[in-house]
Amino acid sequence: MATIFQKIIDKQIPADIVYEDDQCLAFRDINPQAPTHVLVIPKREIKSIDALSPSDGPLIGHLFVVVRQIAQQLGLSDGYRTVINCGRDGGQSVDHIHIHLLAGRSLSWPPG
Ligand code: AMP
Repeated sequence: MATIFQKIIDKQIPADIVYEDDQCLAFRDINPQAPTHVLVIPKREIKSIDALSPSDGPLIGHLFVVVRQIAQQLGLSDGYRTVINCGRDGGQSVDHIHIHLLAGRSLSWPPG
């Protein structure tokens, strides 16, 4: 069954898209945990970090280059945090790998 993110990629459900290219899509999280909360996802479904293979390296690298581009685009000059949750204990709720980009407030450490 298609994940919610696959439906966003396929434009079956709407999203507030901030960036798109042939390899990836970035859109605002529907339940933001910071004033800026964007999700960056590959268009090709990879379930999680655990499902990565060595050949996925360039794609994952591209996602981080896109994070930097979005940070510049959104003027996140005071800094930001990237998070990738993996699996149940990691807090992953959607089985399509995604980078959370969080910014706009001072983020505490360690995470809960
Ligand atoms: P994770 O818990 O790391 O798997 O993150 C999944 C994220 O997807 C959560 O922060 C959700 O708020 C977000 N999310 C779920 N459905 C949507 C949606 N339709 N549009 C945007 N973000 C979503």
